[in-house]
Amino acid sequence: MPEWLTHVIFAYLVFKLCSLRYRSLDGADMALVLMGSILPDFSKIDLAFGVAGMDIQNMVDPLHTPIGSILVAGLLSLLFQNCLKAFMLLVIGAGTHLLLDTMESQIAGGIMLMFPLSCNKYSLAILPNDDWRVGAILLAAMLAVVTVLRILKKVCRKT
Ligand SMILES: [Zn+2]
Repeated sequence: MPEWLTHVIFAYLVFKLCSLRYRSLDGADMALVLMGSILPDFSKIDLAFGVAGMDIQNMVDPLHTPIGSILVAGLLSLLFQNCLKAFMLLVIGAGTHLLLDTMESQIAGGIMLMFPLSCNKYSLAILPNDDWRVGAILLAAMLAVVTVLRILKKVCRKT
């Protein structure tokens, strides 16, 4: 699991790229995508229960799957007035999370992408999961995107 900051930065980059195409996306939409980007790691709640001596890992592990993330996003989206849009944005964020997790070398063997059809875990093992440079590269990319977008905005206002 790359740390949450890496997930949030990656989701931010994806959102910014999408917002170039879909101009109606705003800050509230971005907040939902960023929230969705850490949604699959809701399964880490088992750590808190582990401290209390309760082992619920097998119960919450399915939340760190595409189906589990979609179910959690569906439940969370019910809290919003435009629940379909909220659901889509949460799922996009969760998708960025699972994409990043699938690309990394996993200590636990990967992500159960086919759950509940199969409990096999898949990983592309492209990114090392303990390398801080992945987060640093994404942070640099985020700063570059923000800078370029601000420059483009100023140039567009002047013309
Ligand atoms: Zn994860």
